[in-house]
Amino acid sequence: MASSPSADSVAARRLPPPTALATFSSSALHTLAASCVVRSKKLANWGGTTHVTPERLFEPRSVEQCLALVELARREHKELRAVGRAHSPSDLMWSKEWLVRMQRMEGVVQIDAAKPSVTVLAGTYVSAIHDILAAATPPLAMSNVGSISEQTLGGLIATATHGTGYNFPVVSAAILSLRVIVALPPAQGGTQVLFCSREVHPDLFNATLCGLGCTGLIVEAELAVEPAFNLRQVGEEMTVDFLFGPSTGYPAVLAAPETPRFSPRAKGATPGAEASLAPQRQSIGALLARGERLPPAKSAYLPAVRTTSPAHVYPLPADVLSEEAREDDEDDEVTREAQRRLERIVQSSQHAKIMYWPQARMCTVFRADRTFEPPMPVGLGSKIYGRVVGHDLTQLLLFVSRYHRALPPRIARLVFWLTHPSSKNASSLESSAGGKASSVPPPPPAGEHSRGVGRTTEEGVASGPSSSSSSSLPEAAPSPSASSSSDGKKALVARTTELSTPSSSSSVTQAGEHGARVFALRAAAKRGAVSRPAAPAHRVSLDAFLTPPPDNGRKYGVLSRALPPIGTGATYHSINTSHKVFNMDCLFPQHTSEWAIPLVHAASALRALREWLEAEEADANGERIHFPVEIRFADADGIWLSHAQGRKTCFIGVIQFR
Ligand SMILES: Cc1cc2nc3c(=O)[nH]c(=O)nc-3n(C[C@H](O)[C@H](O)[C@H](O)COP(=O)(O)OP(=O)(O)OC[C@H]3O[C@@H](n4cnc5c(N)ncnc54)[C@H](O)[C@@H]3O)c2cc1C
Repeated sequence: MASSPSADSVAARRLPPPTALATFSSSALHTLAASCVVRSKKLANWGGTTHVTPERLFEPRSVEQCLALVELARREHKELRAVGRAHSPSDLMWSKEWLVRMQRMEGVVQIDAAKPSVTVLAGTYVSAIHDILAAATPPLAMSNVGSISEQTLGGLIATATHGTGYNFPVVSAAILSLRVIVALPPAQGGTQVLFCSREVHPDLFNATLCGLGCTGLIVEAELAVEPAFNLRQVGEEMTVDFLFGPSTGYPAVLAAPETPRFSPRAKGATPGAEASLAPQRQSIGALLARGERLPPAKSAYLPAVRTTSPAHVYPLPADVLSEEAREDDEDDEVTREAQRRLERIVQSSQHAKIMYWPQARMCTVFRADRTFEPPMPVGLGSKIYGRVVGHDLTQLLLFVSRYHRALPPRIARLVFWLTHPSSKNASSLESSAGGKASSVPPPPPAGEHSRGVGRTTEEGVASGPSSSSSSSLPEAAPSPSASSSSDGKKALVARTTELSTPSSSSSVTQAGEHGARVFALRAAAKRGAVSRPAAPAHRVSLDAFLTPPPDNGRKYGVLSRALPPIGTGATYHSINTSHKVFNMDCLFPQHTSEWAIPLVHAASALRALREWLEAEEADANGERIHFPVEIRFADADGIWLSHAQGRKTCFIGVIQFR
C-alpha cells in the first residue's frame, strides 16, 4: 500500500465525528453548516443551458460537514442535492433548496498497487486522478474515460459516464466500493456513512452506481485501475455509404393509420388526412422529418436482460446474458449488412468510436489499442495548424453559423475539408457524398410516401452490397480525392504509415488532430515522402482485415500491433498517454443529446438518423446540428439504472453549439 503526500489531511477530513450525529443539537449542526456556506449562489452548467439560484449553497471539505448537512436537511425537510462540477447537460443536479457542491471534498485516500485500485474523496476531479495515478509507483491509469476528464468522480459515478469500447463497460462498473451518506431516521440508526460494495449493502451499492444523486451523498470511492498504458490510435476516413450502406428509405416501421401529427412543422397536413393513410411501412427518418409521431417502440427494443442479484454489476454472469435477436424483421438487407460490418469494426480494437460528419457525408473511424510504444512527437507546425484551424477557426465558424440557417452545413463541410486529409476540395467531397446539400431530395409529400419509400428501397438494394456474405465489406468507396484530378495534393490521401514524420496531438481538438495531420501530410507531400494511394480494394474481406484483438476476454492486454485498415480512405496514426487519447476538446458550450440504444440495433438507428438529418438539411427551415456526431460503444453491465444495463450499447451523441 502506498499513500500520497496529502493523505494525512485527507485522512482527517474523511473521518466521521467521534460522537453520534443523533446527539448533535440542531444549532450545532447549523454552526457546522455555516462553516461551509457559499455566498454567491447563482450556478450554471458547463454548457450554460441550465441555471439555478438555490436557497443555500454549501461547499463542504470534510465528511463531518457533509454529515451535518444531510442530517440538517432531513430534520428541516429540505431537498438536498449534490453537485459535482455541473458538467451534466441537463438540470439533473439542481435544487432550488439546498445544493452541496462537492469539489472541495477532494484528495487521494490510498493507492493499492496490488489490486490495483485508487481510493479518493468523491469530489476529486477525474483529471486529478490521472495525475495521482501517473505519479504512483508503478504508474497506473484508469481503464476507460469519457471525452473529458473535468468531472468529479462522484458525478461520473452517479451518471454512469461512459467512454468507448466493445468490451469496456461504463466507468461506474469499475467502482469497487463506496462510502455514502444516507439520511436514515433515528429508528434506523440515524444519518450515517455507509460502506457499500458488491458484498456489503449490495442494493445501495448497485443503486448508487447510476443513482443520479438520489441514493445519498457519495463521499468516497474505490476505483479499479490498471498499469499505466499508452494508446495507439488509428483514425480512418470513409464515406457514410461505405460504413452505413447506401440510403434506401429503411429502416422502416409499420406506421398506424391513426398516427397523429404533433409538430407545427408538419407539412401538408389537412384535417382527417391521417385517416386516409393506409397502414404501411414508413421510414423512421421520413416520419421524423415530416414531424410525425413515431409508433411506440416494440418490446424487443427494451433491454432483454434484468439482473437478479445486485452484486451482478460487471461482468454479467454468462447465464444471465442471453443472445439478443441478432436480426430485426423490420430491417432491410442493407441494414443487416451494415449492422454486421459495424459490429466487426467495433470488435476489431479495444476502443473504437466513430465521428460522423453528416453534412460532409463522411465518417472517421477511430480505433485504439494499448501499446508499449512511446508517445509520438508532435511537430510545431502541426501543433500550430491544429490549434489555429482545428480549434480557434472552427470555434469562430461555429459561432458564425448560429446566425443563418444556411451556414451550418456549409461550415461543417469547410471544417471537414480543412481538417481531414482525404478531402481535397469541397466539390469532390460533395460529389463523393452523393451530391451537394441542396440536391439532397426532400422527403416525399405524405400522399406519395409509400411510392417513394418503395422506389428508393428497390434502388438501394440493387446498388447496395451483396447480402450473401457477412464477412465482406461492400465495394470500397474510393476516397474523395482519389478520383479527382492528379495534382500534387492528390497524395494527401496516402496512408500516414508511409510518412517519415508521423504526428500526434493531445492538446488540440479532435478536429485539430486531423488538422495537424493534414499539415504533416502536406509537408510530406512536398518532400515527396508520400506515395500515391493504393488502388481501391474491391470487396475487402472482413475476416482478413478485421480480426478481433487476440486479448478478447483479457481485454487489458497490450497489443502493440498496427491495426489493418478497413477501407481505402486516408488514415492517421497517433500514440499518446491513455487519457489524452480518450479525451478531446469539446470546444465551446453546447446543447447535447445522446441516445443509448442496443448495439444490435445500431445500424438501423444510424441509418434512420442519417436519412432524417439529410432531409432536414435539404429543408430551408429544417433542424441544424453541428458536428461531429459521436458514436461510441459500451459493454453490457448489471447496474440497475445504467443505459447499458443488460446489453451492449451504442451511444449516439448529437450537439448544437449555443
Ligand atoms: C464537454 C462534456 C463532455 C462529456 N463527455 C461525456 C462522455 O464522454 N461520456 C459520458 O458518459 N458523459 C459525458 N459528459 C457528461 C458528464 O460526464 C456527466 O454529466 C457527469 O455526471 C458530470 O460530472 P459532474 O462532476 O460535473 O457532475 P454533475 O453534473 O454536477 O452532477 C451529475 C449528477 O451526479 C450527482 N452527483 C454529483 N456528485 C455526487 C456525489 N458526490 N454524490 C452523489 N451524487 C452526486 C448529481 O446530483 C447529479 O445527479 C460530458 C459532459 C460535458 C460537459
